[in-house]
Amino acid sequence: MRGEGKRLEGKVALITGGASGIGLATVQKFVREGAKVLVVDIDAERAEKVVAEIEADGQAGSVAAAQADVSVYADVEAAVQRAVDVFGRLDVIFNNAGIAGGKALLDHDPAVDYAPMIRVDQDGVYHGILAAGRQFKSQGTGGVIISTSSIYGEQAAELAFSYSAAKAAVISFTRSAAYELAEYGVRAVAITPGRVGTPIINQFSEELRTTFASEQLRNALTEPSEIADVVAFLASDEANAINGTVVHVDDGYSVFKQRLD
Ligand code: NAD
Repeated sequence: MRGEGKRLEGKVALITGGASGIGLATVQKFVREGAKVLVVDIDAERAEKVVAEIEADGQAGSVAAAQADVSVYADVEAAVQRAVDVFGRLDVIFNNAGIAGGKALLDHDPAVDYAPMIRVDQDGVYHGILAAGRQFKSQGTGGVIISTSSIYGEQAAELAFSYSAAKAAVISFTRSAAYELAEYGVRAVAITPGRVGTPIINQFSEELRTTFASEQLRNALTEPSEIADVVAFLASDEANAINGTVVHVDDGYSVFKQRLD
């Protein structure tokens, strides 16, 4: 595979939302790069299936699964503990679990259209940073925190009031975590995917997916594996100088406004 060389050998990673889409592609990539990975998802059955498939592929001992709802701090703390129990330590957390969707602001029922989104996409990342940050400090080894924001974290978008707010918070958390945790040797980076071909996007009509693809410079959806490639680089020691910032993995979406043909 392109660009692979066991860059994560000896590292232990926890990946939330690891049972599908970007998270799943990142679990697979990390294992190929030599990491041990705890696959964390609210969907325990799919997380176990991911582990079984990787084990069947000759990688037994490289993966384990844990169920957690990232909106619940105790769940995330328990997942971090499980990574330590199974693999002995934690070096990388990828706070990636998320939900999408939304309504026009004035149609909102706050209990339905605001609170649940904030609980998963915003609080979930906060919980990951806090639980992993505590583990990194007590290990005394440093660590890497990578969190999934979105192009919507940096701009307003239709039907995305709550999602944009949560994704903007992820960028803010990343800056503050880099600052607060630097003394423990911890790095924090946020990524902003654009339109990625995962179940979140694939639930939409063919027509809408074609529109989404046309918003990116290659006129195609980004592959989940292409996001995973960037996350693996960011998790590796090759990215030691990248800290407290946003890495755009949006196929040019954020710099491109209109196709003239
Ligand atoms: P996906 O639906 O394929 O995967 C999301 C995973 O998160 C699922 O396995 C789901 O079970 C899990 N999950 C949902 N709620 C959870 C919770 N409370 N606790 C634990 N796990 C939970 O979607 P994806 O496209 O791979 O999305 C991954 C991340 O990327 C999300 O944060 C999403 O907002 C972000 N993102 C996606 C795109 C895109 O175009 N697909 C673009 C920008 C950002």
